[in-house]
Amino acid sequence: MLKKLIVQKYGGTSVGNIEKIINVAKRIISYKNKGHDVVVVVSALGDTTDDLISLASKITRTPSERELDMLISTGEQVSVALLAMAVHKLGSEAISFTGAQVGIITDSSHTKARIIDVNARRIRQELGKGKIVIVAGFQGVNIDQEITTLGRGGSDMTAVALAKVLEAEVCEIYTDVDGVYTADPRIVKDAKKLDRISYEEMLELASLGAQVLQARSVEVASKFSVPLHVRSSFSKRRGTFITKEVSAMEEVLVSGVTLNKDEAKVTVCDVPDRPGAAARIFGTIAKGDINIDMIIQNISRTGYTDVSFTVMANDLTKTLRLMKDVVKNIGAKGVIFDKDIAKVSVVGIGMRSHSGIAAKMFKSLASKNINIEMISTSEIKISCIVRKGKGEKAMKVLHQTFGLGRK
Ligand code: ASP
Ligand code: MG
Repeated sequence: MLKKLIVQKYGGTSVGNIEKIINVAKRIISYKNKGHDVVVVVSALGDTTDDLISLASKITRTPSERELDMLISTGEQVSVALLAMAVHKLGSEAISFTGAQVGIITDSSHTKARIIDVNARRIRQELGKGKIVIVAGFQGVNIDQEITTLGRGGSDMTAVALAKVLEAEVCEIYTDVDGVYTADPRIVKDAKKLDRISYEEMLELASLGAQVLQARSVEVASKFSVPLHVRSSFSKRRGTFITKEVSAMEEVLVSGVTLNKDEAKVTVCDVPDRPGAAARIFGTIAKGDINIDMIIQNISRTGYTDVSFTVMANDLTKTLRLMKDVVKNIGAKGVIFDKDIAKVSVVGIGMRSHSGIAAKMFKSLASKNINIEMISTSEIKISCIVRKGKGEKAMKVLHQTFGLGRK
């Protein structure tokens, strides 16, 4: 029987150097000594993953994805071994494992693989012997024994998957901030830490660019009701709990405001207003494995219409290349782009049961003379594209308008 099992995940900043690794070792030992079975998932030290990717890019701009996974999965192997050594040095028992060793089986989509099965037998065995088990985040293995990685930020996914399979009491996500905030506290000075937030809201926030959690991991946590606790590895304070929605949550109209400056707008000009044109444009983009965010198509008065959409800025070059052919094929006039945009969004499950949030948002932006260029909504989110230079101002005024500050 695994009693009071907890999964703790430590991000790259929490294990950025040897001193921090020793601190993490002390923390996990303290939980073990309180009577918990402890499974720890660790990310690569500091910026290791970025550094490895940039090494590869010095050789080729288009590395084989299999080899890229071979390379970037090494970062986590370094951190688990060092952490296990630190625990030993402090006089406790621990054992480190790679993803493959603990049976994290994924599909074969290198660099963004999905977990299809976890065989945690080895973990249970070692816990049974009283050891702290330390698992490399972000990696798995496909059925052909090829090493895969789970997408950037994928250690969160490892932690959630293990918490689900081991039926952990809680999955703690340790990072360098106290929890999830109403807005980025580096920009909005009076941003407040949230005590609790629903999976759905967290999923929107993460997808919109809040850095604390990998969006896909929140999706999986939600699906299997794995309770998440985002907290700081540098303090003992309680962080933010991410759970199923409870009715009190609906009373809060807006829980958070986000800003994303990493998107670019692409416009295909003078697209003939004919069936199949949009299918051609977006079919090509889907085949290129590019994620589209917002789409706008205007009514056509002349038989032609402009189609605009946004993509992540780092997909822009590829998108423009793909659009060149599409433009020719569908008889459009050309394609233009705009990188000077920012997306500001408000998120809250209270929106489902209250109206007027959109109007309030638009009015608030207008009051600061901020022009809205695109709008998109979901059940619990409204996003607006504005000029990049106005992004932070927009975030601040919305934070204030919806009363999210500390006062
Ligand atoms: N080290 C990987 C990354 O930087 C995985 C993670 O940090 O969760 O994306
Ligand atoms: Mg990292």
